[in-house]
Amino acid sequence: MCRLWMAQGVTGPMLIGNVSTNVIKMFVPKQSLLQAKSVVDFSSIVMSPKFNLLQWDCSAECEYKCMWKTVDIFVEHHQDIPQFYGKWPFIRLYGIQEPASAFFSVLNGAAHIYGIIQFRKLVIPLAPMYLVWHGYCFVALNTWCWSTLFHMRDFEFTEHMDYMGATALVTYQLFGLLARLLIHKPKVYLCTVSALVSLLCLYHIYSMVFIHFDYGYHIKVNVTIGVLNAIGWAGWCIYVRHKQTYSWKGSTAIILIGLCLSLELADFPPIAWVFDAHSLWHAGTAPLTLLWYSFIVDDCNYLLMSHKPELQEN
Ligand SMILES: [Zn+2]
Repeated sequence: MCRLWMAQGVTGPMLIGNVSTNVIKMFVPKQSLLQAKSVVDFSSIVMSPKFNLLQWDCSAECEYKCMWKTVDIFVEHHQDIPQFYGKWPFIRLYGIQEPASAFFSVLNGAAHIYGIIQFRKLVIPLAPMYLVWHGYCFVALNTWCWSTLFHMRDFEFTEHMDYMGATALVTYQLFGLLARLLIHKPKVYLCTVSALVSLLCLYHIYSMVFIHFDYGYHIKVNVTIGVLNAIGWAGWCIYVRHKQTYSWKGSTAIILIGLCLSLELADFPPIAWVFDAHSLWHAGTAPLTLLWYSFIVDDCNYLLMSHKPELQEN
């Protein structure tokens, strides 16, 4: 038998267990929902293997059940739904904490796998940027794997790996941009710039993991790198649009990804307790990944054609 007090992270202690609706109604007008408390009886809970796999122990189960009891009361009293422990309430599916975000993370990973298969079919290994885009796919798959695990089950470790994965991906995209811009310059330029970018990325990860995990600072770093990427890629695509007519694919993908990201700003309680702004952002990036791969296929083949004499000499 497990009897736990539910300490709620919104503003204070919060119930809810075997309290009748009438009792709750008596509480609500007087002290507001945030003052109510009760004991939760979870003696009936039997953990199934799939729940154990995702480590839903008695305490976590208590938090989940209490959250929904609390949500019911907020809904009943037409109150705005708060976040619980920094998250909106989501309906769990087979023990998966945020099923929509987890599913769309898998979809993004699948889009990269499909994209790189197409890339390898349509671009020969001799093409410039061939290895750069393979590296991009590798980094992206790592990022989406951690994103899937984090949305399946939120632990400190999966959360940190998800955040660091996002940093690695935006940093690599910046490296990709620099590699493309410096394609006609001596290799030493790219080596110097990429060493600097790598050091900055590694220092950020080190300071977050080993010094202090500052979420606000992490978001600022990611957004700054992301904005540099977006301006750089979109600006370059627009600049070369007359000569390289395929570049509309790159600028469209970048602009639409930026629009999808703006969903994050409009944070709202999940639609049907499943689809929140973050999951819709992940849903939007999956098809745009395919457009991006189509762009890099065309760009590599363009580079191959324009570099043909040099490549034949080598
Ligand atoms: Zn996510």
